[in-house]
Amino acid sequence: MLTGKRVRIRAKGKVFEGIVMPSFTGNLVLKLDNGYNVGFVEYELIEVLGELEKVEFKREILRKEGLPDVKIISTGGTIASKVDYRTGAVTSQFTAEEIISEIPELAEICNVSAELLYNILSENMKPAYWIELAKRVYESLKSYEGVIITHGTDTMHFSASALSFMLSTPKPVVFVGAQRSSDRPSSDATMNLLCSAKLSVSDVGEVLVCMHGSTSDDFCYAHRGVKVRKMHTSRRDAFQSINAKPVARIYYPSLEIDWLSSRFRRGERELELKDRLEEKVVLIKFFPGLSAEIIDFFHSKGYHGFVIEGTGLGHVSTDWIETLKRVCEDSIVVMTSQCLFGRVCDRVYDTGRDLLKAGVIEGEDMLPETALVKLMFLLGNYDFETAKKLVKTNLVGEIESRSVY
Ligand code: ASP
Repeated sequence: MLTGKRVRIRAKGKVFEGIVMPSFTGNLVLKLDNGYNVGFVEYELIEVLGELEKVEFKREILRKEGLPDVKIISTGGTIASKVDYRTGAVTSQFTAEEIISEIPELAEICNVSAELLYNILSENMKPAYWIELAKRVYESLKSYEGVIITHGTDTMHFSASALSFMLSTPKPVVFVGAQRSSDRPSSDATMNLLCSAKLSVSDVGEVLVCMHGSTSDDFCYAHRGVKVRKMHTSRRDAFQSINAKPVARIYYPSLEIDWLSSRFRRGERELELKDRLEEKVVLIKFFPGLSAEIIDFFHSKGYHGFVIEGTGLGHVSTDWIETLKRVCEDSIVVMTSQCLFGRVCDRVYDTGRDLLKAGVIEGEDMLPETALVKLMFLLGNYDFETAKKLVKTNLVGEIESRSVY
């Protein structure tokens, strides 16, 4: 069995070295040192070079007088991951300390302390984890100049929304991730982290997401935590501000910041934490033919918060109206759009007007995921009537007063 071993082979007149990957076809699959997998049907084994060694990443982290103190809280995700050369899978295993020791340039920007909170892929995040994370960030902000949160990209916008609502922050709180793990040649981890570090010591005072702004290594965007979404499965510039301009562009490698839109400034708000979330809130995507029984189902399970991802300007089929009318008596129902871009307007078509009469609230230009987290926050921290009023009130930049094209 060669799987997991480092080998040297000859194929097509050339010599290749790499780690033998598991293969189900009978062909030899080698992970080369540049990170790519190559399959060989015909080859000659020259030598087995040994088992893969575990690499330890430990380096002294020096504190420099005069530099601001920044906390990195690691929650896992690809940015904290490494390819497991035995299985080919990407797994979370780096700690925050290891990330820092991998990117020594960080030490030129700030004095970094690291805390490993979770080591999970972000699809495993839960509202209870957002609360724990918000509490950790709140405590860290008492003594650090800024906080960076390394996070998986899949659900980063949910976590960023949750912290945006729960935490009134006078300092930068920057979420950062990577689309390619840090041991791949094409990894975006280093640049994203350095740009985040620069943001974390800047004069902004809000929750941001910092990721590649283009497919090259030339700049990152800082997006408002409540206006951002992952819009591509694999591109390094997958994150986009929706219905808003990004807050800033951070050039690489100069790390100069170009502010692009208005923002909370450092020191503008008092540090405050509202740490409750109502979990019985659901996001439902409407599609032609979906029965309103889905609403009744959740209602019967005690859910009193509903966000609907409707069609176009914010619609569902006419046969949902009676159910929604009934549910709206003791629940908050918010309409968002599966178009994502644009604003919900239920005053144009009859279905829309009927929805408004039934008690459904237009979610303005909020992203469906942001509306979901906002409703969890509102129902967790305010009485029902106040929560209902606040749905359409802009709290932290989640609703733009004018639509941006
Ligand atoms: N599935 C991973 C996660 O969200 C992907 C990533 O980190 O980019 O944790």
